Amino acid sequence: MQKVPAIGSFGNDFPLHDCYIAAMIKLPPDYHTHTELCRHAEGRPGDYFRAAAARGLPAVACTDHSPAPDGFDPEHRMTTDEFEVYEQWFREEQDRHALPCLFGIEADWYPGCELYMAEWLAAQDFDLVIGSVHYLDYWAFFHSSIGQLWEREDVGQVWRQYFELIRQLTASGMYDIIGHIDLPKKFGHRPPDSEFREIVLPVLDVIAGAGTAIEINTSGFFHPVAEAYPSTQILCWARERNIPITFGSDSHKPERVGNRFEDALALAKEAGYAHSLQFSKRRKTLCPLP
Ligand code: ZN
Ligand code: FE
Ligand code: FE
Ligand code: ZN
Repeated sequence: MQKVPAIGSFGNDFPLHDCYIAAMIKLPPDYHTHTELCRHAEGRPGDYFRAAAARGLPAVACTDHSPAPDGFDPEHRMTTDEFEVYEQWFREEQDRHALPCLFGIEADWYPGCELYMAEWLAAQDFDLVIGSVHYLDYWAFFHSSIGQLWEREDVGQVWRQYFELIRQLTASGMYDIIGHIDLPKKFGHRPPDSEFREIVLPVLDVIAGAGTAIEINTSGFFHPVAEAYPSTQILCWARERNIPITFGSDSHKPERVGNRFEDALALAKEAGYAHSLQFSKRRKTLCPLP
C-alpha cells in the first residue's frame, strides 16, 4: 500500500507527489489554473487548492498568465508589479492543503519576447512553465470566432503560422509544457486532412526531440469545438513519438478545477499512454497514470 502525504508534509524536496500512485487517487494532477490577477478569472490560489483537494486530485499547479513588461496584451495578465502579489498569495497557501501545490506560470510565446522571457523565467522559482501561443499577431487572437483572424486568412494558413510559433516556442527550450497545442480548432476551424498532417507532424518531431511535454487541456470540452486539446489524432501521434503529457483544466474559476479529468485520463489511455509527468522546481519525473 502506497503512502499518502499528511497535511503539510509537502516541502520543496524532490521527489514530491509519488503519493498519487496511491490506490485511492483516481485522477491525475491539474497543472493548469488561473487566478483573478489575470483580469479574466476568479479566485486566488487558495481557492483553487481547496477545490483541487475537494475534487480528490493528487496535486495542483497555479499557472496564471505571465506578465509582459513590453506591454503585450495587458488586458489578460497581471502587471510585472503584481507578480510579487501572485507569488506571495501562492507562498502563503502552498503548505496549507492536503495535496502538493506547485508554483507555475503560463507564459506566452510571441515574436520579440525571447530575450526578456528567457531571463525572466530563469530568475523565478517555478516548479513548471507552460508555454502558450494565444495570438498570431497583436490583432489576430483565438478568443473570438469572428474578427480578423478567420476573415483574412484561409484556415490552413492560420494553422501553419500558429504551428510555426509552436515550433519556435519549443526550440527556445524555455518552456516545460506546451499549452493547448491545437488551439486554432477552438471554433471548429480545421485544415483539410492532407494539410493537417503536413503542418502538425514536423512540429511534433521537434517537440519530441526537445523533450518538451504537451498537456491534455480539458477547457476545449467547454469551447465550441467540444473536445479536449489536443485531438485524439494529435495525441496518438504524440504517443508514437514518446512526447510526455500532463493534464490541465485551464480553470478560470475554482469550481472548474479537474473538470472532465475522467475523460482526459481515458483519452490518454486510449492513445496508449501509461505515464504522465510530475514536476518540481522544473525537474520532471514520469509517474504511472492512476
Ligand atoms: Zn486565461
Ligand atoms: Fe492559454
Ligand atoms: Fe490558461
Ligand atoms: Zn490557457
